[in-house]
Amino acid sequence: MQNTTPKESVCPKCGAKMKDFNLGRKCVDTRCTFWVPREIRQKVLSEEIIAELLEQRETRVVHGFHKRGNAQTFSARLYLSDAWKIKLRLENKTGLPCPACGRELLRFARGYRCMDEGNCAYVLWDRFGGKELTDEQMIRLLTLKTTEIIHGFTSRKNGKRYSARIVMQDSGRLKVEFEDGKKV
Ligand SMILES: [Zn+2]
Ligand SMILES: [Zn+2]
Repeated sequence: MQNTTPKESVCPKCGAKMKDFNLGRKCVDTRCTFWVPREIRQKVLSEEIIAELLEQRETRVVHGFHKRGNAQTFSARLYLSDAWKIKLRLENKTGLPCPACGRELLRFARGYRCMDEGNCAYVLWDRFGGKELTDEQMIRLLTLKTTEIIHGFTSRKNGKRYSARIVMQDSGRLKVEFEDGKKV
């Protein structure tokens, strides 16, 4: 299927037109080096996202950027720095309630923590049983209070591999359940 012609974009740096080339879209004025790559961190940028970046200098939250060196993804806004570089701003607001106190949880590099750090020490780390949980697994745990069965955990006691679901109790504490429902 033929792609529809993208809306004409204007270079935010110099005001010239921008045109597509093999790596993305660049300013037609060769003295201006501004360009937007087709993909960032393995995420192909949609026409809407590129337009937001060029016109508003900051995009909505974009999901599916890849962390370096592994398959994990994360969400972030793209924005243009003062030096016309495209940067990622990690989105740390989650809209999810803290299991301990009900205030909002914030995303940070290694998991989720309560926004009310002074009074509530709740933290949900993104590592469990020697494995890094995906965003999808973490969000499922926080909203549905249980993950699906996850494979590849390692027992701290004996080093054995196991598969289980992680269940969040009312207190926010985690427990592990094997497929038949029994606790580890
Ligand atoms: Zn330009
Ligand atoms: Zn809290």
